[in-house]
Amino acid sequence: MLLKERFESDELLAMRYLNPRMELTEKEKFQYINLEKGYEGEVKFDLLLKDLQEDRYIINDLLLEVNNSQFQIDTLILSQGVIHLLDIKYFKGDYYLKSDKLFSVTTGREYKNPVIQLKRSETLFRQLLQNLKQNYLVDASVIFNHPEFTLYQAPMDLPFILPTQVNRFLEELNKTPSTLNNGHQKLAQKLISLHQTKNRYTVLPEYHYDQLQKGIYCSGCKAFSIEVEGRLGICKACGHKELIENTVIQSVREFKHLFPDRQITTKAIHEWCKAIVSKRRIRRILEKNYKKTGVHQWTYYE
Ligand SMILES: [Zn+2]
Repeated sequence: MLLKERFESDELLAMRYLNPRMELTEKEKFQYINLEKGYEGEVKFDLLLKDLQEDRYIINDLLLEVNNSQFQIDTLILSQGVIHLLDIKYFKGDYYLKSDKLFSVTTGREYKNPVIQLKRSETLFRQLLQNLKQNYLVDASVIFNHPEFTLYQAPMDLPFILPTQVNRFLEELNKTPSTLNNGHQKLAQKLISLHQTKNRYTVLPEYHYDQLQKGIYCSGCKAFSIEVEGRLGICKACGHKELIENTVIQSVREFKHLFPDRQITTKAIHEWCKAIVSKRRIRRILEKNYKKTGVHQWTYYE
């Protein structure tokens, strides 16, 4: 049973919203692409877990803290006698392990060693269980679920589940009987209640309102080439069409995410959309989709 769903992290959303509006450095672009890929891989893995049998709780995307150290668990599966901690890596291409480090064959780039990350989370999670006076077997693995992932020079005893082993891992899991009781439920609820929303290790590019590109961009090709024709916005670059109302709502979402301290007013959104859509229309869209507070020029939306 799925107890906690997965959503895009605040970090991924911020990067996704900033990407078309500012020039990211190579490093930031790499960070952003990895976040998108990582999320894609997690969602793909979630789909496989839909067929899990027996009584089990699935808790996605937990950010926990023990002794001032935050750690993240992509997927936690709570069965009767064991807790699986899964770290999902959606790496594509050829990689090799050398003196405890992970490298891409094609780019030569070094990646954080997934084993070290996994062991850290596992140790902290065990401590947390101890603090909660809970006694469970903990089994932690890294799941590489991209079908085109190959790993060279990997010792056999690493806690890795490679693409060709993912189905077998799930079959094995399915074969183990599991019945959950009140205690499991309480533990699951406790873990979810301990979930933190702010990741202290998140580093976003520095950005300022003035420096960001304003306007409405195409949700298909990300170009700022939308022209308004009636109720539609039509992209002059790729021909994609979408309702202006939806593009404005998306723009508001981005404005709110990137500038949580700024008020959503007709004037602010009109400027954010670079006046492509009339003030009157923006006011109507805001009134329809948000809660209005205040009157006249002091009106803002929530
Ligand atoms: Zn387009």
